[in-house]
Amino acid sequence: PLTTTDLIEEHRICVCVRKRPLNKKELTVKDLDVITIPSKDVVMVHEPKQKVDLTRYLENQTFRFDYAFDDSTTNEMVYRFTARPLVETIFDRGMATCFAYGQTGSGKTHSFSFKQTHSCACFTQTARDVFLMLKKPNYKKLDLQVYATFFEIYSGKVFDLLNRKAKLRVLEDGKQQVQVVGLQEREVRCTEDVLKLIEIGNSCRTSGQTSANAHSSRSHAVFQIILRRKGKMHGKFSLIDLAGNERGADTSSADRQTRLEGAEINKSLLALKECIRALGRNKPHTPFRASKLTQVLRDSFIGENSRTCMIATISPGMASCENTLNTLRYESIRW
Ligand code: ADP
Ligand code: MG
Repeated sequence: PLTTTDLIEEHRICVCVRKRPLNKKELTVKDLDVITIPSKDVVMVHEPKQKVDLTRYLENQTFRFDYAFDDSTTNEMVYRFTARPLVETIFDRGMATCFAYGQTGSGKTHSFSFKQTHSCACFTQTARDVFLMLKKPNYKKLDLQVYATFFEIYSGKVFDLLNRKAKLRVLEDGKQQVQVVGLQEREVRCTEDVLKLIEIGNSCRTSGQTSANAHSSRSHAVFQIILRRKGKMHGKFSLIDLAGNERGADTSSADRQTRLEGAEINKSLLALKECIRALGRNKPHTPFRASKLTQVLRDSFIGENSRTCMIATISPGMASCENTLNTLRYESIRW
């Protein structure tokens, strides 16, 4: 059988889906489960198994991915099959990027555990594995330094979460090198250092906001681990908790700001899909500039040694079905 590493050797992209359990709210309103994961790479959307007094309205649909994780999968397992195989990449002078994509409330932040600082959180495990790799003789002799950045892209603007949400400018030079001017890169020497930065960034992210979830559903959060050798970048790992992809209601919202934000999010997620499709092919017309998100991540998509993993998170409920189908279709990048 293929291992994750084989798959990633073969393709530069790994696309996974993670189903979460029905939550309390869904159980209270008796929402029904319409998602089945019949094998480790298939997702089925179907009529609820429980008898409901409804005319048939949901056509069975099947989607294939590299991995499909059911609602009993732990964060640790998800990490092992998604971000873990990418850690080597940054030691081999490469770029690794891991996205969480899906509707608000489907489990993106849970999968990365940006909020929690426990040991199985994705960034904790990534940091731990980076520091473990550093100790290997092969890499030790390279004398690499580790840095971290944490920023947010909100309504097409970049804010530094490690520097009191300073608004940053993005510049592109003649050689199409993109620079986020003034972005703080903090040196980190151990996993604990990384956890502290996550905490600082998170408290910064939500301060002054009416609701933490309302805000995070409308912004992309980017956490990066950067390896430097004699000051020069050696490799970069980016973990990105994307804005919620449910935008239907926004386009008709009476509030101008909401409409603009919604349009910006749609635009950036569309551009992201195009850029991922073009990954590593160095296509001249890849629409990096179509959004701040893809512009800032430009260097992660080009180059021989770029690897990306998408984790699509979905809710099992019938009520979320439309958003779930949108997510599954978006994620069918390679099929
Ligand atoms: P998102 O970031 O996509 O908006 P969250 O990660 O905040 O969604 O998840 C919403 C809620 O569902 C949280 O309370 C979270 O703990 C819970 N949840 C999400 N995924 C899972 C899962 N796989 N298992 C158990 N609880 C989950
Ligand atoms: Mg979230």
